[in-house]
Amino acid sequence: MIEHRVEPAQPHAHLYRVTLKVARPQARQVVSLPVWLPGSYMVRDFARHLSGLVATQGNTPCALVQRDKTTWQLECRAGVALQLSYDVYAFDTSVRTAFLDAQRGFFNASSLLLRVHGAEQQPQHLRLSGLPKGWQVASAMTAGAGRNTFVAADYEELIDHPVELGAFWRGSFKACGVAHEFVVSGALPSFDGPRLLADAQRICEAQIRFWHGEQPPPFKRYVFLLNAVEDGYGGLEHRASTALLCARRDLPRRGQANLGEGTTRLLGLVSHEYFHTWNVKRLKPTELACIDDTRENYTELLWFFEGFTSYYDDLLLRRAGLIDEPAYLNLLGKTLQGVLATPGRAVQSVAQASFDAWVKYYKTDENTPNATVSYYTKGALVALALDLRLRVKGKTGLDDVMRALWRASGGGPPSQGGPISEADIFAAVRSAGGKAVADELKQFVHGTEELPLPALLLAFGVQVQRGEGNLASAWGVRVSEGPVSGVMVKNVLRGGVAQAAGVAAGDELLAVDGWRIRRLDDARAWLAANAAATLLLVRDQRVLTMQVPAPPPDVSSVTLALAPHATPQAAALRRGWLGG
Ligand code: ZN
Repeated sequence: MIEHRVEPAQPHAHLYRVTLKVARPQARQVVSLPVWLPGSYMVRDFARHLSGLVATQGNTPCALVQRDKTTWQLECRAGVALQLSYDVYAFDTSVRTAFLDAQRGFFNASSLLLRVHGAEQQPQHLRLSGLPKGWQVASAMTAGAGRNTFVAADYEELIDHPVELGAFWRGSFKACGVAHEFVVSGALPSFDGPRLLADAQRICEAQIRFWHGEQPPPFKRYVFLLNAVEDGYGGLEHRASTALLCARRDLPRRGQANLGEGTTRLLGLVSHEYFHTWNVKRLKPTELACIDDTRENYTELLWFFEGFTSYYDDLLLRRAGLIDEPAYLNLLGKTLQGVLATPGRAVQSVAQASFDAWVKYYKTDENTPNATVSYYTKGALVALALDLRLRVKGKTGLDDVMRALWRASGGGPPSQGGPISEADIFAAVRSAGGKAVADELKQFVHGTEELPLPALLLAFGVQVQRGEGNLASAWGVRVSEGPVSGVMVKNVLRGGVAQAAGVAAGDELLAVDGWRIRRLDDARAWLAANAAATLLLVRDQRVLTMQVPAPPPDVSSVTLALAPHATPQAAALRRGWLGG
């Protein structure tokens, strides 16, 4: 038996105390921590926060040898109960690792709990002890016999159930008869919990029906662990739960009439992570069917598992009736604008972006928009183009492709989902829409040409409207700006006039044509549209003058709107696509 005990021992030092008991160790037992966590494709070396590892058998200390950055070998005897103890520093508010202070605790077991080599398939018991008064524990893991105890069938399951600790708000609802729980930490007193539960319930029911019709989903209970902070956004999917991070102001407030942009964004996140319960946690890339937690695990399919999930997150808000058609088109327009403002879309395909996630998407720098494209946003647009293409051809659309993949994977019936390859996806598209559609998808996924979205959307009575953006997009820079910090260049986009002038990331822009700017668009007050300009800037203590050439007409603002005279056929297609 493997027993892990976690104690929030020194909250002011952000240190968990962990004790691990191995009833029947191997001789020279090896233990390790993962270096990455599924869903977040970056080597994070969780062991860098582990310290003070000691081991004993009875009263006898066991020497230990560190084999690499994350692995230890114990000089122990076989079959004699072994106890290890160590500390883990935890002060990351993201959903990916672990956190502890006097108010709250959170952890993914991949940051805290050692893998006992050779015993990975044994049941893993977890006990939380020494909790401050008033703290509760939340996790989707199966409850054990004692208070604050849990049991996972194996190590892989143990690290797939994050744990929230603290004096949090909790509420519950049923979706299609299945128990769902929502835990919220850090909410303001005005937080409208019942409203969040009601909206989440609609999302969950829409998704269960999307995948299964009237049949039950492949889990018995689901838990949302949401942490609200001053500023933040993110989520990480797990088999029966998700860890979410949002800005406090984005939580629904009592008396709030409309959702508001922030709450819509939060519900989109809820929808996104919940959709992953099927698409990536069960349906998954064949390359990730057996995880190697010691190194990068490459797949070219994140355009499908993240991109298609990103397509469905907002679409299912619309279909659940939580947002109206204009609000949905507004969100879609922003996604399209973001991709069109990324020169890297001409450099990298979404399949390459998936493969390179480990060193590019998760390791951004000032050149990222020039060298890469997001498999989330471009992947969502690929899903959109495919869905619309199938529907224009009189087919039922992408929904049926997703369900066909589900049915065909993982054995059954009923299917529990399972590994799929790129060939499986193309085959499902071919049988739904024919070879030409499958070939077109292959181009979308492996090519860098523009997607034919304006023409496709028009068939649904939706126009892509392009107009003038701000001065930063006209010049091809991304900036951060404020009255105190001034205008700082974050990125210089490939092919823009700012790059032609010699502007570089990190430059501080002081003045345009002899006038001080606090925001770049201040210069709109005296600069004629599409005019050349003289720029005063600071780089490495030097004040430099640069001549910015006249930019080409700027059409970087992208919005989607209902076409004024859509045919009945277009309106019918749109109803099939967006519901309502
Ligand atoms: Zn995702």
